[in-house]
Amino acid sequence: MIGDPDPDPPVSSTGRSRRSDPSELRRRAEAVLKSPTTGEPGNLSEEETSRLLHELQVHQVELEMQNEELSRTREELEISRNRYFHLYNMAPVGYCTVSRQGLILEANLTMARLLGVNRGALINKRLSQFVLREDQNLYYLQTGQLLKNGQPQSFVVRMVDAAGQLPYVHLEAARDEDEGRENVLRIVLVNITERIQLEEELRRARQASDADSRAKSEFLANMSHEIRTPLNGIVGMAQVLEYSPLNPSQKECLEVIRSCSASLLSLINNVLDMAKVESGKLELEIRDFSLRTGIREVVQILAPQVEKKGLRLTIDIPEEVPDSLSGDPFRLKQILINLLGNAVKFTDRGGIRIGVAICESGPGQVRLLLNVSDSGIGIRPELIDKIFLPFTQADTSITRQYDGTGLGLAICLRLAQRMGGKIRARSTVGSGSTFSLEVPFALSKSTAREPGRDGTGREAVSWRGPALRFLVVDDEESNRSVVARMLSLAGHSVVECDNGEDALRLWEPGDFDLVLLDIQMPVRSGIEVLRTMREKEKENRRRIPVVAVTAHALQQEREQMAGEDFDGFLFKPVEIESLFAEISRCLPKALREKGIPPERTPVP
Ligand code: ADP
Repeated sequence: MIGDPDPDPPVSSTGRSRRSDPSELRRRAEAVLKSPTTGEPGNLSEEETSRLLHELQVHQVELEMQNEELSRTREELEISRNRYFHLYNMAPVGYCTVSRQGLILEANLTMARLLGVNRGALINKRLSQFVLREDQNLYYLQTGQLLKNGQPQSFVVRMVDAAGQLPYVHLEAARDEDEGRENVLRIVLVNITERIQLEEELRRARQASDADSRAKSEFLANMSHEIRTPLNGIVGMAQVLEYSPLNPSQKECLEVIRSCSASLLSLINNVLDMAKVESGKLELEIRDFSLRTGIREVVQILAPQVEKKGLRLTIDIPEEVPDSLSGDPFRLKQILINLLGNAVKFTDRGGIRIGVAICESGPGQVRLLLNVSDSGIGIRPELIDKIFLPFTQADTSITRQYDGTGLGLAICLRLAQRMGGKIRARSTVGSGSTFSLEVPFALSKSTAREPGRDGTGREAVSWRGPALRFLVVDDEESNRSVVARMLSLAGHSVVECDNGEDALRLWEPGDFDLVLLDIQMPVRSGIEVLRTMREKEKENRRRIPVVAVTAHALQQEREQMAGEDFDGFLFKPVEIESLFAEISRCLPKALREKGIPPERTPVP
């Protein structure tokens, strides 16, 4: 007898009724259909028979459905398998499985193409036989380590393909267990030859371009130096001429010479600065300085132009703005001269204002905002950012009206950035512009004296003293001549000499009052000459003051000079006021006070 069928079968997760399992059903059906003893059909009531039949039919339908599902799954599996093989074969990287013994068990098509062989030719071959002999040790070492410690390995070897050699193949190898087999290696191969060659080309191109850029900067630096030397002669001689009797027409010519040579000098300095900035060679010279003195000096330089144009100039530095700062005063002044120079150039009516304010202040430091505002022609909004690009001017018609190179603001921006600051411009066409320089400084307690490298910081030529004997040493004739003539104007006598050897010989008798010594000279540098002099002076000789004269104002050189026993420094182009101021400062007091006044008033 079979028991009652489950009256309310539970629903499976697939939503189908849970029937008796097939073997149970079969057992029950056989038991019902056959007598256990005779094998004849048992006695079944009609109701039982029809229930059993129903159950069997349901079960048959279920089986058919399961069958359908199975064949659908099989189809899907087949599609997915084909897709996987397609991907496996067409992957952009070579892929293979290698046995513990190093034999290739399977490989994708990309790997076969990489090595230029049929896929069949790879199977059961040693992978190492495709590795260049010289790199096989590396291959064995890496795969050996992988098999030993299971750590994935990544390395580059040269491989041999049908056409010859693949210089760079990158292998990524990992250990795996393969379907019950022992350890196998899964290896990905990427031919990186092209990439490495491109990188190599790129590196060579970059090196060449760096070398080009260095050569360009050096060329510019040398050229600027070469142009500057004769120009210094022109500027100097023009200054000397100012102190000579001239008729009005000669004076006019002289004025033109002076203004042209001044703009040429400023252009050369700009080009040199740009070259330095571009080649990353611009060094800041950090020192203590007075902010107010710096601004006053900037204003002094441009005051004649402001006056000539009849402009009003106001300076507004509130008391709370600290004065003793530490930073690069020369570069700060350079920026301000540029901004103020532009303000004067582009303003015909009204005024210019220089304002300073504190943006931020913290312990030992301050961030200042320096504004230069004008009531000039202004700048169109679409050009406001462009004017900071090198060689860019607001527009070409302006170029014709106003001279300039378009380098000034580009240099200012880079200088400001180098100082850790920034520059912005705001402008309204027809009403004027404001250039704002924001820059951080450290606060300093002292305000150190700053050698007047740029000829700013001029002291009036107030020195009054006796006619003296000077030794002027410089290998460049025009430089010597300019200084000699400036000194002669004041009635001094000058001996010129163009090299260190002669300088020492002339100095030996000890009858000069002061030596002006060029630093950069062939054979014996100014520093060597000075050291010999100081050495000899130890033997109970009178100490003669020596003023260094140099064209290079590089930090390194200045530091080197500062460590030497010079009495003073002058920077080329030597200006008449700074020459006399420095001489006056370096001479012994007794000589300064003897009281024979040098004639320095320009003859009208
Ligand atoms: P340069 O003055 O030598 O041409 P800059 O780089 O100093 O070069 O200035 C670039 C341009 O920016 C100028 O040619 C001018 O068109 C514009 N510019 C600069 N400052 C002012 C200003 N204060 N007012 C009007 N335009 C200005």
